[in-house]
Amino acid sequence: MKRKSRELVYSVLYDLSDYGHIMSAAKYRMLYDALKYERWNWHAPEVAEEATLALVHTKRYLHDFLGAKLTEVTQRAEVPIDRRIVEAVRTAAQGTILAAELALKHGVASNLSGGFHHAFADHAEGFCFLNDTAIAVRALRQKRPQLRVLVVDLDVHQGNGTAHILKGDDLSYTFSMHERDNYPVKQQSTRDVNLESHLGDDEYLALLAENLKAIENEFDPELIFYIAGVDIYRDDALGGLRLTKEGIARRERMVHNFMPQVPLVVLPAGGYARNLADTVELHAQTIRIMHGK
Ligand SMILES: [Zn+2]
Repeated sequence: MKRKSRELVYSVLYDLSDYGHIMSAAKYRMLYDALKYERWNWHAPEVAEEATLALVHTKRYLHDFLGAKLTEVTQRAEVPIDRRIVEAVRTAAQGTILAAELALKHGVASNLSGGFHHAFADHAEGFCFLNDTAIAVRALRQKRPQLRVLVVDLDVHQGNGTAHILKGDDLSYTFSMHERDNYPVKQQSTRDVNLESHLGDDEYLALLAENLKAIENEFDPELIFYIAGVDIYRDDALGGLRLTKEGIARRERMVHNFMPQVPLVVLPAGGYARNLADTVELHAQTIRIMHGK
């Protein structure tokens, strides 16, 4: 199977562009606007069922989250919670499941939201309420119980929630390469690479190449989730790395060429450039490259 498809997942419910108080909430709609005149096959997800979310999240947490209640376990997302946000996040979780199914069928597929890697089973964290990647892994395993999954998380922040949830799952391998001296408190992934701040294109890409090569000898996945955070960009407000746009394009080509026979799901995750248009341009660039354009 070749990594060249036109399958993108988006819902109008992702659009939180009038929530100016939430960092980068407008980017999902802007990303859609940046891509909508190109030739893509659009797929709209439903709102995820509670039973699907419960494959990962605890009853107590879902009670508070689905009820849009600001409590000890939901407030750690550090963003306000209301019914519209709950609906947006639930839909994004179903969107990641849908993108994973499309990837298995077409080789590659992207969700225009998702990659909420700081969400734990029992609490929200760092702008993340539902761990859509872990939910998709468990949802897919209902039909394919032995599905081997690799998570490649290149957001500037560690995929702490995903690492914690999938720890002990022998059919999963979590790889996170992130800035050491940054949020969050680190969990243990299968493979962690802690980066010094201020790292530039060449040093970053050399480390990535080395680690991807090592993973090839350690694990044989049937599906890859790519958490394609662009907060490694040099002008990001929450990241301390110094990659250029061209450096990030090189990263995407490297991931696109990694285990090319394995279906790939692409999730945007973080991006908080001081100029919002840069974030949107970077996420759009990721999608085009990952789909072989
Ligand atoms: Zn991030």
